[in-house]
Amino acid sequence: MKTQAIKKPAHTFTVRPNLPNYEAARARFSWADVYKDLDGLPGGVGLNIAHEAVDRHADGPLRDCVAIRWLSPDDTVREFTYAHLKRLTNRFANLLKTLDIQRGDRICTLCDRIPDLYIAALGTFKYGGVFCPLFSAFGPEPVFQRLSRSRAAVLITTERLFALKVAGFRHRLPHLKYVLLTDADRHVGPDTLSLPRLFDGASDRFSIPPTDPNDMAILHFTSGTTGFPKGAVHVHDAVRVHYITGKYVLDLRPGDIFWCTADPGWVTGTAYGIIAPLVCGVTSIVDGGDFDAGRWFRILESQKVTVWYTAPTAIRRLMRTASEALRQHDLSRLRHICSVGEPLAADAVRWGSDVLGHPIHDTWWQTENGGIMIANYPSAEIRPGSMGLPLPGIEAAIVRKPDGKTAEVVTEPDVTGHLALRSGWPSMFRGYLGENEKYAKSFSGDWYLSGDLARRDADGYFWFVGRGDDIIKTSGHMVGPFEVESVLTEHPAVAEAGVIGLPDPMLGERVAAFVSLRPGMTPDAALHRDILGFARKRLGPAVAPREIVFQEILPKNRAGKVMRRLLKARRLGLPQGDTSTPE
Ligand code: AMP
Repeated sequence: MKTQAIKKPAHTFTVRPNLPNYEAARARFSWADVYKDLDGLPGGVGLNIAHEAVDRHADGPLRDCVAIRWLSPDDTVREFTYAHLKRLTNRFANLLKTLDIQRGDRICTLCDRIPDLYIAALGTFKYGGVFCPLFSAFGPEPVFQRLSRSRAAVLITTERLFALKVAGFRHRLPHLKYVLLTDADRHVGPDTLSLPRLFDGASDRFSIPPTDPNDMAILHFTSGTTGFPKGAVHVHDAVRVHYITGKYVLDLRPGDIFWCTADPGWVTGTAYGIIAPLVCGVTSIVDGGDFDAGRWFRILESQKVTVWYTAPTAIRRLMRTASEALRQHDLSRLRHICSVGEPLAADAVRWGSDVLGHPIHDTWWQTENGGIMIANYPSAEIRPGSMGLPLPGIEAAIVRKPDGKTAEVVTEPDVTGHLALRSGWPSMFRGYLGENEKYAKSFSGDWYLSGDLARRDADGYFWFVGRGDDIIKTSGHMVGPFEVESVLTEHPAVAEAGVIGLPDPMLGERVAAFVSLRPGMTPDAALHRDILGFARKRLGPAVAPREIVFQEILPKNRAGKVMRRLLKARRLGLPQGDTSTPE
């Protein structure tokens, strides 16, 4: 199926795209060639993300270029040049050494978008630790699950977040050696320390130790449908994908001012909010403030943003609120806009052209992929509503439901099936921490199965159809229904719970819970409020249900599992499919 395609005329490009011809680049692409554009550790002792992102620029012509420009919520600006960032991340690596942290240990962060988070990430890579960011809007329960499953050795957080979300269960985290508080001016206890004080005492000279490209570097938790979140393991070699997608998809080059609006608590905020822009040698804007349409337009204008990577949830909100006054902002520096995380509707792509002066380029990828896999490229035709074409070096296909057998590739166009990627790209996840069986289940023969349903048109463009499982995407964030159900059933009045995503014009999907009550409980407004409040407190606003429906009996299959599929179909008045199995 073909919608009205958009192609930017060649004369409207102010600079030649890094990928001038998609087909030609795809035909001659080799992953080995990407190493040629990277530096490698001095002395040929391996590949380290932090060297590619920071040290190589700090020791070269970009040393005095601003690497990160941080905007505080109250609009104070702090700038970090590549040379400065090298010294700060050296200090961080040295303080890990002082604390006797081992290579491979997990260093978790639970912070808003503050400079310490970025320094900790890059310093961790240098040291050979494993960076594991947690979203600061998680409640205590998701935080506990992730700290416990990662066996975190160090947690970097603020006094407030520590008191609110961690202190209560710290004794249940035997692996957690230290909590480092970013805003404490003195050590609080023997293992609850002040990060600024440790910084002050640490040397700013550090030599990155030999790093194998396959050494573990990042751990990102992603939601499952049937269990607690899984930790997707990524290695230093992922930097090849960060670099090449920064170059080809985001079209980055030194001199650019790049703004990725994602929070590092999610994979986009780490791969494209920290690593890719620095590897490409640009100035990366980090906004510590929350979404606000006026603020965002102001940032685009005042920071002279040239390349912007954002998400459909934000775009929908901007589309709704962008008044004439906002349209008066001078966005003439903006050259290229991309989006990720949820379907980007065709009207949003066109809204970009009308209001921002450029169509929005959709990109698709997942936590497990480590970097952008499918995209609309600056020089290629955009099919509004389509996710685009596979990255050079990536083979994507629609496969028939594999059912344990080798996936069968669908060759005819416009057939809905499972979106799969030929395994082996450098940023492919290397495991789910401690869950080998789940990892093996993600593959069928040579193919990694994404869990998404999609179709491919006759010209090779991929179109998102939906998730093939019960995972919910709300405000662009993955929520696993199991995690929410587990907390709801801990409420004393709740017998059982089934959690689904319902379509929502702003959030994409909103989390909705169907609950049956224990005998003797009255389904009234007070109980409704109480359960909502309980869930919000335990799970945090990013994960908690927005809606709770009391239902006497929840549909279940013969194994006694709540059938979310049926709850959803009934609620939305959709065909209920095979209903032979519920009790
Ligand atoms: P995460 O692992 O949290 O990054 O979420 C990955 C999931 O987000 C994918 O499996 C898709 O379901 C969804 N997603 C990401 N990008 C897109 C996109 N461009 N269009 C539609 N869905 C997307």
